[in-house]
Amino acid sequence: MADRPSARQLREWDRRYLWHPFTQMQEWEQEEPLVIERGKGSYLIDTEGRRYLDGTSSIWVNLHGHRHPVLDRALKGQIDKIAHSTLLGLSNPPAILLARELIKVAPPGLSRVFYSDDGSTAVEVALKMAVQYWRQRHPDAGPKSMFLRLKLAYHGDTIGAVSVGNIELFHARFKPLLFPTLEAEPPSCYRCPLGLTYPSCKTACLEPIERILQTRHRDLAGFIVEPLIQAAAGMIIQPPGYLARLRELCTRYNVLLIADEVATGFGRTGKMFACEHDGVTPDLMAVSKGLTGGYLPLAATLTTDEIYRAFLGRYEEFKTFFHGHSYTGNPLGCAVALANLEVFRRQQVLRSLGPKISLLQKLLASLAGMPSVGDIRQQGLMAGIELVQDKMTKEPYPPPARIGHRVATAARARGLLIRPLGNVVVLVPPLSVSREELTRMVEIVRESIDTLSAG
Ligand SMILES: *Cc1c(COP(=O)(O)O)cnc(C)c1O
Repeated sequence: MADRPSARQLREWDRRYLWHPFTQMQEWEQEEPLVIERGKGSYLIDTEGRRYLDGTSSIWVNLHGHRHPVLDRALKGQIDKIAHSTLLGLSNPPAILLARELIKVAPPGLSRVFYSDDGSTAVEVALKMAVQYWRQRHPDAGPKSMFLRLKLAYHGDTIGAVSVGNIELFHARFKPLLFPTLEAEPPSCYRCPLGLTYPSCKTACLEPIERILQTRHRDLAGFIVEPLIQAAAGMIIQPPGYLARLRELCTRYNVLLIADEVATGFGRTGKMFACEHDGVTPDLMAVSKGLTGGYLPLAATLTTDEIYRAFLGRYEEFKTFFHGHSYTGNPLGCAVALANLEVFRRQQVLRSLGPKISLLQKLLASLAGMPSVGDIRQQGLMAGIELVQDKMTKEPYPPPARIGHRVATAARARGLLIRPLGNVVVLVPPLSVSREELTRMVEIVRESIDTLSAG
């Protein structure tokens, strides 16, 4: 092999050849890119050997820390057998075993696993399954080919996922490509449009949704939601019981409930899946990010026997679900995902979360008095700190102030990597984070927010 390129050379080639996701490249080209070469536990290590706390879990995917021995071993073990073979007309042991394990930990009633590659494709699979289900199972129930979604929803970046999403900044310019949907106002307790507080808001929040379901259920194939927390919208949390009520309404009006657990799945909210907090089983559930413990791209759409059976028939009835990807059921991804679930069992990960969640709550509460901290929202080990210009009026900082970005830059200089969502400072540590690391993360967030008032 040629000489190992220097750290400087790599930075230069990055700026010359790469196009980074969700990144204004004009700005990027002016900055020194941070090039991560290694990782260990909660730390990322750059090409200069500098260590950073991974405050985003590498954008919400890592669970048990980097270079976990059980996950590393599973991946190495599988690569000695085969890296990939197709799931079209063939099967492979890791895909089979993982499907079985997923059904064991999934909300009761989910019984089938369909693999894909990432959160967006898992959502696309759910949408297509829902539409085809109604065609084949209840053709007289109405057209049932539209979806109800919440405002500020984020379900991924492919065109179908964008159609059911609603983050204006990401989606507006693609309007001509998107299919029509119905939209409902999500709960947003800090900025409640009705000026209500929990629990008096409980029915008010859901009445408009019930009206839509009542009048449009013949058009609706499904209602897609991020259960419990709209993460990309800025960690907007749904009040207790909200999801259970959505489940009741969907059942009553014969609309499939699609839970997008891509961000919330695998312990992030304190339970294996967010749906469990409300005792809900969706009709379709999309998972990805944490599925492989943050190692490899892999996703799955889980569904019920009722939906699965609607696709059965003789070949020439063409009830087949005609969908799949080149890497569907990739053995490397499935092997490491199996190891991820093994770590959950062996290390009793879910049990270990309670004290960390309480500690995070306590640490975040200590930021509440800061002049620019408007709202602190936490669900499990997902947290958002909304910064405001005026605490009393909740007046937001204007976008050009790039307030979240400024805090993240200050945090990076102090050894913590975070990525804001607009004016919301986001902290999503790995589930394996230690008490000391968690304390240090919030301390750095405090210092970084403090730099704002220092000018
Ligand atoms: C990240 C995310 C997606 C998209 O997943 P990708 O793997 O980035 O395609 C979908 N839904 C939710 C809720 C997400 O957080």
